[in-house]
Amino acid sequence: MKSRKERDVIVVGAGPAGAMTATILAQKGLDVLLLDRAEFPRDKTCGDAVPAGAIERMWHYGMKDKIQTAVARGEFYPLNGLLIVSPRGYEIRASFHLGREGSTSYVAPRMYFDHVIQQHAIDSGAEFCVTQAKEPIVEHNKVVGVRVRANGQTEDLRARLVIGADGVTSVIARHLRPKVEQHKDEHRAIAIRAYIDDLVEFPHEVEFYLYKNILPGYAWVFPTGENKANIGLGMRLDYFRKHKLKLETMLKEFLNMPSIKQRLKRGGELHDIASWQLSFGSQARIHHAFHGALLVGDAAGFINPITGGGIHNAIISAELAAQTAAEALRQDDVSYENMKAYEQLCHEELWDNMHSSYRMQNWFVHFPFLVDVLVRFGKQSQALTQTFLNKL
Ligand SMILES: Cc1cc2nc3c(=O)[nH]c(=O)nc-3n(C[C@H](O)[C@H](O)[C@H](O)COP(=O)(O)OP(=O)(O)OC[C@H]3O[C@@H](n4cnc5c(N)ncnc54)[C@H](O)[C@@H]3O)c2cc1C
Repeated sequence: MKSRKERDVIVVGAGPAGAMTATILAQKGLDVLLLDRAEFPRDKTCGDAVPAGAIERMWHYGMKDKIQTAVARGEFYPLNGLLIVSPRGYEIRASFHLGREGSTSYVAPRMYFDHVIQQHAIDSGAEFCVTQAKEPIVEHNKVVGVRVRANGQTEDLRARLVIGADGVTSVIARHLRPKVEQHKDEHRAIAIRAYIDDLVEFPHEVEFYLYKNILPGYAWVFPTGENKANIGLGMRLDYFRKHKLKLETMLKEFLNMPSIKQRLKRGGELHDIASWQLSFGSQARIHHAFHGALLVGDAAGFINPITGGGIHNAIISAELAAQTAAEALRQDDVSYENMKAYEQLCHEELWDNMHSSYRMQNWFVHFPFLVDVLVRFGKQSQALTQTFLNKL
């Protein structure tokens, strides 16, 4: 690190939410320190599907060349459409729309995707440092920095404003939010993903399987190249616990389903198997703003309940947080009262989508035949496909 002076902003976590916030604030000329406990490039457990809308937002901050380079290298795999399979095996296919400015959706393994944004944050002027945040430093009820641990040493780093972007297990959120605001099991999910190199993919098409035993949740096959895919499944945590399920067993069962098994060229060996948690944006009345701090992305809990998609929302929240933070710093007032507008902006941008997805998820678990009906008569009722197309 260059010096121990007080920064304008410390961003904790350099995933899409943190690296995007750091990029925008650095581009506004602020002095930004971006921390992550991991060296980049690094993996993050994910389905790796990135919708065109998120890509377009990245273009706006100057990442188009970096994205095109990643596509040319074969690191980002372009998508044309999706397939949804219902509990009774009905299928519906739909095409992804290009973004308003012509961007494409991709399956972009996080090893590559996150590195693009993290590198862009540095190129935009943010300083990056590998260190683990232990907790926010709170003085007189206001966050004034971050306590970190690196090389066995604890150190206090000070900033006018702290952004918690440290994902679903955020230490910043855990210390600042009251216990009653922790995510409840019905607004959380657990998921497993792996990579496979011998599956005959449906080129440029992501597949969603909503069979009865996995509702509320789904299994996926997201291609990353010829015969290669990210494969996994996720389920709402309350149902997962209630039925005492095991993710590894569920994944084996999914691989053994005829529609998958018949496409395996050498038996379907999986590698880089990993599981992780998701926190939905459908839980009401929780804070994302505090005296001296804001939460973005998974640290705030902005994942769509029905699709599990969180990257686009992470980027949206980064834009809103950067806008709020820059204005608060300009006014030299980072109080909750001055920054609570951020909560309102997030609500306006994300809530309807989260709430309607959560309601739809509850219908599906109580009435799985509804998924069959929607898929079977999908050409008339686009509700389900539009959810997956728009809410990923
Ligand atoms: C199995 C699975 C599949 C998913 N599939 C998709 C999908 O296909 N498409 C989609 O859009 N979304 C998907 N999601 C959701 C998506 O992964 C998240 O919404 C997204 O990663 C959120 O980005 P973020 O920057 O908020 O958090 P993260 O990507 O989790 O980044 C947080 C960063 O903070 C760092 N960090 C954590 N703690 C500390 C600490 N104490 N100190 C310093 N650094 C720290 C981490 O190293 C990490 O780099 C999936 C999630 C899971 C679990």
